[in-house]
Amino acid sequence: MSDKIAIIGGSGVYDLFKKASKISVKTPYGKVETIKKTKYKEREIFFLPRHGPKHSVPPHLINYKANIFALHSLGVKKIYATNAVGSIDISIKPGDFVVPDQIIDMTKVRPLTFFDGSTTIKFEDGSSRKGVVHLDYTEPYCINLRNMYIKAVEDIGEMVYTKGVYVCSEGPRFETSAEIIMYQKMGGTLAGMTTVPEAILARELKMCYSTLCLITNFGAGMQEKITHEEVVEIFEQKTNQVKEVMKKIISSEHSSVKCNCIS
Ligand SMILES: [Zn+2]
Repeated sequence: MSDKIAIIGGSGVYDLFKKASKISVKTPYGKVETIKKTKYKEREIFFLPRHGPKHSVPPHLINYKANIFALHSLGVKKIYATNAVGSIDISIKPGDFVVPDQIIDMTKVRPLTFFDGSTTIKFEDGSSRKGVVHLDYTEPYCINLRNMYIKAVEDIGEMVYTKGVYVCSEGPRFETSAEIIMYQKMGGTLAGMTTVPEAILARELKMCYSTLCLITNFGAGMQEKITHEEVVEIFEQKTNQVKEVMKKIISSEHSSVKCNCIS
């Protein structure tokens, strides 16, 4: 069983991989040239900066299919993502960590699947998926990876919300205050722009996926208009903790309990 994990994240985590070697992966959906590769003991670790190394690709233009397919073709089975998100639950504040367990998809124009009717994808275990595929998506995030994240955050002495509903909007604009009220009524906890289709595509390729969300602001209409400086300050304050969590993940024993991402 290969032990390869991937981290998908932003600028804070990028620092951890500054010295790692860069690799380029060709996929049927385009070339991915931004992946970094390093090792911890026998474990191979890949880092994929979601918005590109210079944070220049907006959420709706990220080539999610190429990114996820590239990790699949490298043999990655576990993806640990990170996201900076807004809170739409007044009790969850900027600076808090959340490991969400559910998704509401409010995106509009993104390709949401590898399976357009004619695609066949083969897996290392000899199985394949093809044609029209309707996945069970009752639990969108991997239970094992969620537990890994929760334990890692607790281990560094930080509080973590162990559940949350990630509402993914199309962006790149932020929500209106009416949209935030709608999301609250729908049962949402967080508002972000990237978990869809990233998490869905990972599941289609039988990869475990979970995300650690850092709250950087409240949703529109929930507070005085937040300044960019405040968002940056919160992000910077917590960047070291995010790095510490990722170090824990990289060096921890991973659960071999069967999850439902693989079947
Ligand atoms: Zn899993």
